[in-house]
Amino acid sequence: MATVPKCREAILSIKPYVPGKPIEEVRRELGVKDVIKLASNENPLGPSPDAVQALQEASDRIFLYPDGNCYYLKEALAAKLGVKQENLIIGNGTDEILKMLAETYINPGDEIVVADPTFSEYEFAAQVMGGRAIKVPTRNFRHDLAAMAAAITPRTRLVFVCNPNNPTGTIVGQAALDGFLKQVPPSVLVVLDEAYSDYVTAEHYPDSLAYVRAGRAGVIILRTFSKIYGLAGLRVGYGVAVPEIIRDLNRVREPFNVNLLAQVAAVAALKDEAHVGKSREVNSEGKEYLYSQFESLGLKYVPTEANFIFVDIQRDSREVFHQLLQKGVIVRTGDIFGYDTFLRVTIGTRRQNETFIRALREILA
Ligand SMILES: *Cc1c(COP(=O)(O)O)cnc(C)c1O
Repeated sequence: MATVPKCREAILSIKPYVPGKPIEEVRRELGVKDVIKLASNENPLGPSPDAVQALQEASDRIFLYPDGNCYYLKEALAAKLGVKQENLIIGNGTDEILKMLAETYINPGDEIVVADPTFSEYEFAAQVMGGRAIKVPTRNFRHDLAAMAAAITPRTRLVFVCNPNNPTGTIVGQAALDGFLKQVPPSVLVVLDEAYSDYVTAEHYPDSLAYVRAGRAGVIILRTFSKIYGLAGLRVGYGVAVPEIIRDLNRVREPFNVNLLAQVAAVAALKDEAHVGKSREVNSEGKEYLYSQFESLGLKYVPTEANFIFVDIQRDSREVFHQLLQKGVIVRTGDIFGYDTFLRVTIGTRRQNETFIRALREILA
């Protein structure tokens, strides 16, 4: 073993992120030709054709640095969301904004409060800065906001509400969130991760942007173009907060953090409301189909407000995962979230859902 310089103490405890397996990798390693990926909650319909066309038209400009301020994307987002451009920060995916939040607020020894299970990137970002995550178990797969408020200490800097929650698909409603925010001290920033908000159908889902419009200082809302907008490969997400928070986040932002093609495609995708509507419809139909199939298989699932379902297959999910891979279906195992008998499956197209169910039936038979 080569002797190398010592890395920072704080990062030694970090376990590398386990991403959904790429389609190419399954083709390469298992020699399976037809592979569908229901593992990373991407849009099964793909990107808006308008976004693809915009990309193609912009491709001869890639020798230029992008606009570091993302002017046109901010302009389009501000109009759509009813906020000002000074309320917006754009990231190389929402993941980058999570990292910026940690770099801006977390000193070594500081704490963040998160649900358990939830999206693992919150803890990761805090750990990189020497912070640590206080994990509050969900109740009935939902955020336990009372327990999360009680977990706040003088060391707490950020509290994460993943809404809908990944991997459970559950939401926190308006009244519960209002009540929670009243309990959070002004020294703490509440991060509302709404990566899946476009899929939500429940009426009590919070109108979180109203907090920012009203000038509320203690919240930031995060959204992404990776899910319903179908641009996961380009990496673009955004945050919405009062200008003072945006100003502080901009201190740590790389000057050209969002690439030129991502900016152009995001503007076009945002305008294609028909594609978003279609995507929502396909998701609703797929949800009902999968619910009924799970019921007929006698499997319990967590009702979802997102584009994935957390389902209890009542046996070692890693084994079933590998068996599904052999049949060309990539899903996510629950063990990474602490639920060994669960799978998280992205709702796909009708055909993809049927392929998945056929494979699952064969394996469970
Ligand atoms: C997918 C996802 C994101 C978005 O990630 P990007 O970096 O924008 O691709 C953020 N939060 C949650 C909970 C997610 O599942």
